[in-house]
Amino acid sequence: MWIEQMPNWVRKFYPTVLWRKDPTQKTLYLTFDDGPTPDITPWILDQLDQLGIKATFFCIGANAQKHPQLLQEIQQRGHAIGLHGYSHVRGLYKDNPVFMADIEKGNEYVNSHLYRPPHGRLTPKQAKCLSKKYTVVLWDVITRDYDIDLQPQEVEQIALTYTRNGSIIVFHDSAKAKKNMQYAFPRVVKQWLSEGYQFKTLNNKTI
Ligand SMILES: [Zn+2]
Repeated sequence: MWIEQMPNWVRKFYPTVLWRKDPTQKTLYLTFDDGPTPDITPWILDQLDQLGIKATFFCIGANAQKHPQLLQEIQQRGHAIGLHGYSHVRGLYKDNPVFMADIEKGNEYVNSHLYRPPHGRLTPKQAKCLSKKYTVVLWDVITRDYDIDLQPQEVEQIALTYTRNGSIIVFHDSAKAKKNMQYAFPRVVKQWLSEGYQFKTLNNKTI
């Protein structure tokens, strides 16, 4: 389905955006959006340590402002940080100056060259403009862990069905996604590890 995996013709409208990494490599890129969240992010960090892998956290500036130590801990434990705006405004529905100001305000607290737009919503023009300063990252697979109408097993199945070589995969360290994410994320990672996948962060400046 389109929600879980955008078709290539849509991706072509956003040529400067990173959707997927090298399709010839058995490497995956886990990402967690909307934190840092004291109730959830530390649990993810412990899981990642146990699994022996690294991930990328796209943080909301307002959350980073509230929890700077948690932001620091994510980095100290070897993970990458990306920016997810200051207040989670959607690019499509905001005037450009408001949208851009929110991003810049967010980066005062997050300080990253990686940017992921909230809800994945931005115009091709906004993407092009932002790409001058940031590596704009969308995703190859969105697990829909935030969807409270889905059962945890369904989220697990979505992740397993759509993930492939070079996939950038989205989970959330948010209260809304907690139940689905906590069930699906460790299970699917164990499955992928057993299939020989490696995991890397998105801290490389080039696409
Ligand atoms: Zn988000």
